Amino acid sequence: MNKREDVSTPRRTKEIISRHGFSFKKSLGQNFLIDQNILGKIVAAAELDSTKGALEIGPGIGALTEKLAQTAGHVAAIEIDQRLLPILEEVLEPYPHVEVVHGDVLKLDLRDFFQSQFSGVSSVSVVANLPYYVTTPILMKLLEEKLPLENIVVMIQKEVAERMSASPGGKDYGSLSIAVQYYSEPELVCTVPHSVFIPQPNVDSAVIRLKVRKTPPVQLEDQDFFFEVVQASFAQRRKTISNNLKSRFFAGEDRQRLESLLAEAEIEPARRAETLHIEEFAKLSNTLFLAGL
Ligand code: SAM
Repeated sequence: MNKREDVSTPRRTKEIISRHGFSFKKSLGQNFLIDQNILGKIVAAAELDSTKGALEIGPGIGALTEKLAQTAGHVAAIEIDQRLLPILEEVLEPYPHVEVVHGDVLKLDLRDFFQSQFSGVSSVSVVANLPYYVTTPILMKLLEEKLPLENIVVMIQKEVAERMSASPGGKDYGSLSIAVQYYSEPELVCTVPHSVFIPQPNVDSAVIRLKVRKTPPVQLEDQDFFFEVVQASFAQRRKTISNNLKSRFFAGEDRQRLESLLAEAEIEPARRAETLHIEEFAKLSNTLFLAGL
C-alpha cells in the first residue's frame, strides 16, 4: 500500500492548498509549518505518549495535528476558520482519536471543553503553532484558568518568547515575564527560521515550553493586587519603583508612608522594577496589601 506523504512536506501542503482552492488569511495568523525537523522538536518537547492527551489551537491543514495523532492517546484541535474543516476531515481521516472543533479558543469555556475531551487521559499538554496576533491572550487564558495541564509547548514570536522567559536585570524582563513565571516554568526549546513556514512570517519565531506549576512559587495575600503592583511598578520603565508606586498608589501624599512601606518590604526606593525578583514583588505587594492599599 502506498504510504501518503506527510501533510507538512512542502509538496503535499501545496497540493492540499491548491486542490481545495485555499487562500491564506493574514488576519488569522495563518502561517503553516512545512518542516519535519521543527515539528519533531515541538512534539518531542511535549513528552506525549499514548496515555496522554494533546490540545492543539489552530490546526491549519493539520501538519502538527498529524504528528500529535501519531503520538498522543487523544487529540482535540480548535480551529476558528471554517474553510479548514473539510481539509482537516480529509487529512485526519486515518486518526479516529482526533477531534476537530470549530471555534474561537478565546471564546470557548475551556473547563467544559477539557471535561468533555480529556476525561480518559492521564494528563494534557497544549501543543500549537499559535496565531501570533493573539499569542499572549491565548497563553494567559490557558494559564489563568488553572486548567489541568502538564505543559504548554508553543511556537510563538521570538521576541515574546524572550520576554516570557526573561530573568530580572534585562530589557526583556517585565510584567509578562512575571505573569508567565508565576503560573509556569518557561524554557526556550529552539529558535526557528522564517523558511519553515508557508507563507513566511515577517517576524522571527521560537518554540517555548511552559511547565505548568502545581503550586505558585510565592505566597500572596491577594493575587489580583500582586499583579496590580507589578503592572504599576513597570508603568514607566525608566522611573524608579518608588516613583511608579507613588503615581499609582500614593498620589497626593508625601513620600514618608511609601518609603517606610518600601523599607518594610526591604526594597531600595531607587531601584527599577526590572531588577526585582518575583519573591521581592510578592513581599512588596503583601506589605502594601496589609497596609490597606
Ligand atoms: N497548526 C498549523 C501549522 O502549524 O501549520 C497552523 C498554524 S497557524 C500559525 C495558526 C492557526 O490558528 C490558523 O489555522 C488559524 O486559522 C487559527 N486561528 C487563528 N485564530 C484562532 C482562534 N482565535 N481560535 C482558534 N484558532 C485560531
